[in-house]
Amino acid sequence: MNCGEGIDTRLIEELFINLDPIQAGGRLSADAMKAVLAYGDGYSVCDNCEKPFRLDCIKKPPLARFHDELAKFLNMDIARLVPGARRGFQAVADTVVGKGDPVLLTAFSHYTEFLSVEQAGGVPHEVPANDANIITADAVASRIEEVTRSAGKTPALLYVEEVDYQYGNLHPVQDIARVAHQYDIPVLCNGAYTIGIMPVDGKDIGADFLVGSGHKSMAAPAPSGVLATTSEWADTLFRTTQVKGDITGRTFGVKEVEMMGCTLMGVTSMGMMASFPHVRERVKQYDQHLSRCNRIVDALCSIEGTQVMSEYPRKHPLTRMNTTGSFDKAAKTNKKKGFFLISALRERGITGIIAGSTKVWKFNPYGITEEQARYVADMFLEIAREEGLPVKSG
Ligand SMILES: *Cc1c(COP(=O)(O)O)cnc(C)c1O
Repeated sequence: MNCGEGIDTRLIEELFINLDPIQAGGRLSADAMKAVLAYGDGYSVCDNCEKPFRLDCIKKPPLARFHDELAKFLNMDIARLVPGARRGFQAVADTVVGKGDPVLLTAFSHYTEFLSVEQAGGVPHEVPANDANIITADAVASRIEEVTRSAGKTPALLYVEEVDYQYGNLHPVQDIARVAHQYDIPVLCNGAYTIGIMPVDGKDIGADFLVGSGHKSMAAPAPSGVLATTSEWADTLFRTTQVKGDITGRTFGVKEVEMMGCTLMGVTSMGMMASFPHVRERVKQYDQHLSRCNRIVDALCSIEGTQVMSEYPRKHPLTRMNTTGSFDKAAKTNKKKGFFLISALRERGITGIIAGSTKVWKFNPYGITEEQARYVADMFLEIAREEGLPVKSG
């Protein structure tokens, strides 16, 4: 079967247990798949658009209610749908960062956070991680002091990732936000890896801006995401248009400038909304997903020479491993070289780690069942034994 000339059907999720770090949380729910089919046409959510003609006001399908529920789910005052977390960063940076303003990011910030600063004309400064690969509130405090002294003004914005993409470590965002607020610096909390996976409480964190990714962590089609803020920032971030056509005299009502009026007009908002009840439930089962992840990590670490580079026990299923002393040794003698590992995994119905890497690699077992977790753990051990690598019993 194909979807037109040269376009094969994608069957990864059907044929494999997929451990791809960025794909695990974005797999669609069955309801989202139905929504994708029913709302695939371009502006499909606009059938019943009425005054004031804005996406977040549409009552049928219930997008207005969805926006309210999303804000409540995140414990923030107001939420908007955005085409990806990156567009959330962009809207915030464009609102609060001026040309030449210093901006704080972290040693783990995503490239899209940097690009949003660049686009707004800000100057990025990183907060370093400590030896345990955690961004601490103390490190934030000293970096604020340093940057303020050298730039002659306090940073216009602080970005902090609740869970980073490199180690999947959970950072003390609440303490970090408290420190930033002592210097009157607004805080953007990046929940790309957390919102939709684990419970996130924006008010508790103290986030001025909270950003999530629909396709990374909310079982939604791409590009989708959420940008939420407090009532204090709402009028600034979601300011409405003030311009006027100079010949026609046209004005544009309540369209929000940073949102370019409307954002996700079809399959993306509908997929996200259809998955939302499932997402709301699954965050309550977070502990189960963590214990499945820990089971796989334990198995891997019982292969001599293997280390988990992320914090352990795991607080998030995205995990970085170091198998330089195990699988990489096997790669030196295996005729498939570094590709033996992905090849051996695929033969066993497992995929999603970078082909060819046997030193440092990441995997994310979010969403798999107990049985699948046990199977993945067993298969890593089986592959190790097949390669003659010593496995500690325990
Ligand atoms: C994936 C990721 C992003 C980008 O998310 P999009 O929704 O694709 O824009 C941003 N930050 C972090 C930490 C990420 O892991």
